Amino acid sequence: MNKPQSIVVLGSTGSIGTSCLDVIRSHPSRMRLIGATAFKNAASLAEQAQEFHPDWILLGDPESAATLSDTCLPENTSLYAGDDALERLIRSDMVDTVVSAVVGAAGLKSTWIAVDAGKKVALANKESLVVAGEIIRRRAAETGASIIPVDSEHSAIFQALQAGNRQDLRRIILTASGGPFRGWTAAKMRDVTPEMALKHPTWEMGRKITIDSATMMNKALEIIEARWLFDIPADQISVVVHPQSFIHSFVEYQDGSVISQMSPPDMRLPIQYALTFPDRIPCPCPDTDWMAASTMELFPPDMEAFPALGLGFEVARQGGTSGSILNAANEVAVDRFLKNEIRFDQITHVSRDILNHHTFDAQPTLQQLQQADSWAREEATRWNS
Ligand code: NAD
Ligand code: MG
Repeated sequence: MNKPQSIVVLGSTGSIGTSCLDVIRSHPSRMRLIGATAFKNAASLAEQAQEFHPDWILLGDPESAATLSDTCLPENTSLYAGDDALERLIRSDMVDTVVSAVVGAAGLKSTWIAVDAGKKVALANKESLVVAGEIIRRRAAETGASIIPVDSEHSAIFQALQAGNRQDLRRIILTASGGPFRGWTAAKMRDVTPEMALKHPTWEMGRKITIDSATMMNKALEIIEARWLFDIPADQISVVVHPQSFIHSFVEYQDGSVISQMSPPDMRLPIQYALTFPDRIPCPCPDTDWMAASTMELFPPDMEAFPALGLGFEVARQGGTSGSILNAANEVAVDRFLKNEIRFDQITHVSRDILNHHTFDAQPTLQQLQQADSWAREEATRWNS
């Protein structure tokens, strides 16, 4: 029997993080949680440590770490705080796989370290690729790091790509649920409240991605994620609306064949596949009930009602600094919407305006991307209609 895979889960208290721990819990002989991180949620992280006995846990926020005493932790679990310790722990030879499941551009630093250290990276944090996809891709090729997608659409494409040769690929088609406001006009969406936008019809997720799904900015970010993850030009990416979230995406080959991956909407499946690839093993998620009648609908996206989609294609075409600008502006705009400072339809306007007047750089360094991110955050914080 091989030794279990040693896994670090970054963002273990979040929606993806807890689903990931569910997968690890189901396969004790194959997987071991060696480290876990959260930002502030010390109590949940300590509870996870009590169950999984990792070698270490880490809180991004040192004040939250100070609230935990050693008595809350198992004897062999060490507690750390802050970025320097995180870097050392991710780079350790003990670590096989890093699950990157922090939300937002805050996840870029740790994704970068894992890629730089040549680890296997199970990537949920799409924002890393939106901000710095080109550089991350290049660095992964140098260090031998493998990046395996956790995002359900990208996992589906990753799986479907194994059905043919890369040079025979015509395009990839991302499916989108359409979110809670599918079929609404732009005018009707002016009055959407945070409570309305936080109710997603098919997926239970963290707050930020739930709002992104309602504006369809999530799909915009996924277009950019796909552009870099699969090294595919923007004009070979399409989006189709599929409200049942059962078909997770398609690829289309030169002969017209369309290959898709389907399963009930449950993130534990793509998370597990990223951890066990190329193996497929039983998963702690529901199976498809083929005896129940069901409908699978497909619609073209409404690019006018959801202008975020256009931004996604535009930024995927441009590359350079535009991904970090779009992502940062959107993060701030979502936060301001949740605080009732701006309207729902203005979330995308903020990103549009800030992209329009930023100074574009086609080949930025990581540091320049971080500067672009800070600039866009300041602009979005000041933004007024
Ligand atoms: P979440 O808000 O539920 O959890 C986020 C986690 O990140 C928490 O553990 C939190 O403590 C940690 N965190 C937050 N800010 C941090 C910071 N500044 N430094 C360190 N840690 C920090 O988010 P989620 O829904 O699990 O999403 C995580 C990532 O996965 C996002 O990039 C999202 O786009 C992606 N994703 C999520 C889903 C889903 O179903 N939830 C699906 C596909 C992709
Ligand atoms: Mg997705």
